[in-house]
Amino acid sequence: MDVRTPILTAILATMTLTMVSHAAPEEPAFAVVDLHVDVPWQVHFKGRDPKLLEGHATTANLRTGAYGGLVFPIYLPDYLNKTGPRIEDADAILLTIENIIGTAGVFLPPGKPAETGKVNSFISIEGAGAFASDITQIDRFIARGVRLIGPVHAHNNRLASSATGDDSDFGFTEVGFQFVERVYKAGALIDVSHLSDKAFFELVPIAKKYNAPIVATHSNSRKIANHPRNLTDDELKVIGETGGVAGLNFHTPFVVTKRSATMDDVIKQVEHMVKVAGIDHVAIGSDFDGGIKPAEGLEDASMLPSLARRLRKRGMSEEDVLKIFSLNALRVLGYRNPAQLQAQVDEALSTKHP
Ligand SMILES: [Zn+2]
Repeated sequence: MDVRTPILTAILATMTLTMVSHAAPEEPAFAVVDLHVDVPWQVHFKGRDPKLLEGHATTANLRTGAYGGLVFPIYLPDYLNKTGPRIEDADAILLTIENIIGTAGVFLPPGKPAETGKVNSFISIEGAGAFASDITQIDRFIARGVRLIGPVHAHNNRLASSATGDDSDFGFTEVGFQFVERVYKAGALIDVSHLSDKAFFELVPIAKKYNAPIVATHSNSRKIANHPRNLTDDELKVIGETGGVAGLNFHTPFVVTKRSATMDDVIKQVEHMVKVAGIDHVAIGSDFDGGIKPAEGLEDASMLPSLARRLRKRGMSEEDVLKIFSLNALRVLGYRNPAQLQAQVDEALSTKHP
């Protein structure tokens, strides 16, 4: 039996209990599930202690910020090796993530039921170009808990073109198309955050064929901040239509252009993204510890409660704040494709009537 759905239910139950017990009457009830926090990069490549004592997402900040869940990206920098990242680099970073989970003292391993005061772990891949050498290798990463897979990072690669790649926006390559089909068949999801616009729209019919939500783990609205890493209104609408989410990124140039970003600018992003994609389709994807310059007032993971308070003051309901901070993210992290659901139904029926 697959335990993912009961686990998500348990996470929610625990979070709700934690929230109720901590919340003063005027405090909004919420807990955070953050779709993109780059601590594995810091620990694996920058020498940070896996106990997470420094940076944006320290264990203390995660506690103060009411984090209940966090996605660790296996980020494969384009500059690795002479010929780019290799699959063995992904294996090594996954070991680092497992080390952080085991060492920091606040994380539960992927797939474990929630516990009060602990942070549930999820894993993604950012920049999967190495898998063009052998796309079958992605299966074992999905089997080890990888839920979200971004084909590219800052440059075009052998799978697809990047939002910040050179001028040749070629979309998906032949092997890129095979790769995304394989990911969807295995029940994981494609992360469109660094994809080019052409690749984004090439992905849409494939995602629809598999009934898979389209997820941008850490991208904002391009209408509000004109940056190729952000999503156009058309893209935000499609994300909403497929049941997906866009994760709100706190990096200044993605929040506002040509000046420092304030909390007001972040609020503007949230409100526009909600207006275009829908309240069920916006989440948090902070990009903390990813070399970012966070907006003023959201300097680190401890500051999330002030964003929740500001949204409540702007008239957003407690339920809607909770959707943005955790429920929407948990929905896509718990996604299962129709074949997996059918297998679960079959198994349940055969157990009942041996
Ligand atoms: Zn990124």
